[in-house]
Amino acid sequence: MITAHLTDAEIQLYVAEPEMTSDQLKIHIQDCANCQTMAANYQLLFNGIHDHAKPRFDFDLTSLVLEQLPEPKRAFPWAAIMVSGFSVLLIVLSSIFLWSILDAVIRSAPLLLMATAITAAVVILIFQALEMVKNHQKQIHTLLNAKTLQL
Ligand SMILES: [Zn+2]
Repeated sequence: MITAHLTDAEIQLYVAEPEMTSDQLKIHIQDCANCQTMAANYQLLFNGIHDHAKPRFDFDLTSLVLEQLPEPKRAFPWAAIMVSGFSVLLIVLSSIFLWSILDAVIRSAPLLLMATAITAAVVILIFQALEMVKNHQKQIHTLLNAKTLQL
């Protein structure tokens, strides 16, 4: 048996979730009038919090807050377009100027090497797509949980 009194956190846990409290703590509470009184006080407090009506506003808080927020500015994605254009230009120029070398490499490379390279590229693409889908689902899950907590 524990001789020291329980802490506030232990008593709160005992009141809120008795199944999470250890047997030693339960035995102490059953034998200790001081801890029983504190547990009864916390039980009253928890019941009062639970029974208290949720506050309601007589106005639409959401619309008032949304009116105060600035309009989001949708900037044109110049940087992304420039990087994409530069990348495409680089690939096209490389293909034009190095076509003779590329053609010779492709024709002289063994079929097995080409098949291996293509297979590796496809496998990498599949794993990247799976990772992207997994991240998307995780973010959606997080957003939905955050939305649920607000309500
Ligand atoms: Zn005690």
